[in-house]
Amino acid sequence: MLLRHTPKEITERSALMINPAKTCQPIGAMYAALGIKGCLPHSHGSQGCCAYHRSTLTRHYKEPISAATSSFTEGASVFGGQANLLQAIDNIFTVYEPDVIAVHTTCLSETIGDDLPQIFDKAMKEKKVPAGKTLIGAQTPSYVGSHVTGFSNMVKAMAALAKPSGKKNGKINIIPGWVEPSDMEEIKKIAAMIGVSINMFPDTSGVLNGPLTGEYKMFPDAGASIDDIKDSGNSIGTLALGEWCSADAARLLDTKCKVPCSILDMPFGLKATDRFVDALRTVAGTSVPDEVMMERGKLVDMISDMHQYFYGKKVALVGDPDQVIAMTEFLVSIDMCPIHIVTGTPGKRFEERINEITKDMGQKVNVRAKGDMFLLHQWIKNEPVDLIIGNSYCKYIARDEDLPYVRWGFPILDRQGHQHFPTVGYMGGLRLLEKILGVLLDRKDRDDPESKFELVL
Ligand code: SF4
Repeated sequence: MLLRHTPKEITERSALMINPAKTCQPIGAMYAALGIKGCLPHSHGSQGCCAYHRSTLTRHYKEPISAATSSFTEGASVFGGQANLLQAIDNIFTVYEPDVIAVHTTCLSETIGDDLPQIFDKAMKEKKVPAGKTLIGAQTPSYVGSHVTGFSNMVKAMAALAKPSGKKNGKINIIPGWVEPSDMEEIKKIAAMIGVSINMFPDTSGVLNGPLTGEYKMFPDAGASIDDIKDSGNSIGTLALGEWCSADAARLLDTKCKVPCSILDMPFGLKATDRFVDALRTVAGTSVPDEVMMERGKLVDMISDMHQYFYGKKVALVGDPDQVIAMTEFLVSIDMCPIHIVTGTPGKRFEERINEITKDMGQKVNVRAKGDMFLLHQWIKNEPVDLIIGNSYCKYIARDEDLPYVRWGFPILDRQGHQHFPTVGYMGGLRLLEKILGVLLDRKDRDDPESKFELVL
């Protein structure tokens, strides 16, 4: 019992977090930056921060993550990191020749008060940025927000590059939010099936789930190109998937470039995917093609075939707000009961959305934004569940409480597959249900008495 000290009795805490359900802002900024073609992320802070960000992403995506650092020492920590960053920009463009350097700050550089726009301006004036190369920057102090905030800040910095030319390009921007590379592939596949020409950023497909070819490439031949990101200001509209991850960038494109935006939920599950498909169909001015309807029908078929095993099952759910909102709706739509729901990212709207989605479920729901894994565990001790869904940190709770457990979200440090198999869209819904069913039925097989042990389920 690794978590044997977790008490059942809940004491309200105002200033203490135990086992956070989030990680630090720069990790999100770094993941977003990896979705730009030819981009080297740069951590403006100490080497330790950068090593942590890289190792967390490497452990989740099972790929080497390249990133540079301003390597703060005592001097930079006191007097500021401008000299380090200017030297780094010079070195990186000279030695590694990326198209883009995406700089994010850290707790230390933010506390000192380093001014990225001013340092970038100086770098330009001192001709440290070669012609045709790009610098972008996001402020990502980790003492506020979470990795989701950092992701959103870097995506907003991408949107700030957009340049309207006055001539529309006929494309739709899709800002997919923090989903897996496999999910980004699936989103592009759905848009292609409907016949919509899209401009998606960031795009980590092919970057963090690429093949092993035996040939090392510092910058994979994938990701959203900087020209496409700049061209997003000429698109006819933007679909932003997720309020927390993508809305800020979409609203910036709207105000700066007059590209109207719709903020949708991430397309996890039947209803959210329906809304995504409908938005694409509306833009394309077409009907939904048969191949998309076929995929939808398969998901509906699996739900109706296996509904008896989902019905009434109580679920504890933890993850990032955009994912958890869509997943809650999916679980409720198949008559499961998500009763304990936590995200580590702040935002009161999260609790409102969850309460709206679960209001007719007929069960009391515990929901907390800026919550932690400790609280989730206490809720489970007070009202046990049939299933826990969340990232790898849930394994401690699942083991102590002997719960069926589905790994989903970020980070997943102890399993493979998430980079390659989507969980968005109808086909992703099938994958999610298959995973949920697998653990529920394994548990049934384990616990059923011999008289009820069945071959066919
Ligand atoms: S010091 Fe801040 S930015 Fe660096 S690893 Fe820690 S939380 Fe993240």
